Amino acid sequence: MPHKNIKTMALGLFILSSGISLTPAYAEGEVNVYSSRHYDTDNRLFADFTETTGIKINLIEGKINSLMERLRFEGKNSPADVIITTDAGRLYQLERDDLLQGIQSDELQGKIPANLRHGEGKWFGVTQRARVIYYDKETVKNPPQTYTELADPKYKGMVCARSSSNIYMLSLLASQIAHNGEDAAKTWAQGLLNNLARDPQGGDTDQLRGIVSDECQIAIGNTYYFARAIRTKVKGLSGHTDKIGVVFPDQGDKGTHVNISGAGVAKHAPNKENAIKLLEYFTSEAAQTYFASGNDEYPVVPGVALSSSVQQLGEFEADVLPLEELGRNQARAQQIYNEIGYK
Ligand code: FE
Repeated sequence: MPHKNIKTMALGLFILSSGISLTPAYAEGEVNVYSSRHYDTDNRLFADFTETTGIKINLIEGKINSLMERLRFEGKNSPADVIITTDAGRLYQLERDDLLQGIQSDELQGKIPANLRHGEGKWFGVTQRARVIYYDKETVKNPPQTYTELADPKYKGMVCARSSSNIYMLSLLASQIAHNGEDAAKTWAQGLLNNLARDPQGGDTDQLRGIVSDECQIAIGNTYYFARAIRTKVKGLSGHTDKIGVVFPDQGDKGTHVNISGAGVAKHAPNKENAIKLLEYFTSEAAQTYFASGNDEYPVVPGVALSSSVQQLGEFEADVLPLEELGRNQARAQQIYNEIGYK
């Protein structure tokens, strides 16, 4: 949609005064967003974008699988301009199904580190999260310091982790494949399976609750689940966070495995220019702060301050493996889990 200049604004007012109803004279068009991420702070961010640019946001929220189904069904007629989701594995699925288009933006390329965006501009990181090791400070005096150590027999029967169908577990094993090769990754997954305290179950918060209830001494989970329990009331976890220690694995070596929530421009975006503007807005300091603090995550743009709950977890060295690699190794990761009988 072309930008309206002062002349058309005046014309708009003129026509309005003769009684014909029009969209607001300052309107710069709209942008249709499909999002599988929902936080109140995201809504504040969208409102700020509209106030700053005059571009109206039409938001459709849903689970990523139903949004993807909808995009496929709508095909060329899809109104979707921007797609927002979590985990590079899902961004890979969107890309593989040809639901995104590559865009060129010096601003996005300049501000977002190369490993946190697609090489051809099909998706860009918006926030970052790390997958870390949690442990019971009372009973575990020497917690694992690396992902490799999680598979060490000395932790037999101590580890809680979620099921292999979960995208976070797939991305973690995919990163092991990328770094160490398939054989080593399979040996690692088998070692992890041997160390499990119980059958894989529940979400990341449930792994942390497992430490609180003494079912497990060590757990694998994303950073924001723990930070959230510090900031707000999470049942069965808040009030017990002092019992739990955090290790950022592989410091001084490969760095800790990170993932993103991210966004891309839809393949058939009818408002492509506005879509790019919205993605660029996501990298502004205000938007980075809204996005990151809303889900207790780390910003992707270097130099943006951390929210206070995230500050308590601390800073860390992140693995700089291009996140595209995670998607590429996803199917193999699922096969490996299946082959070893990791549920
Ligand atoms: Fe999550």
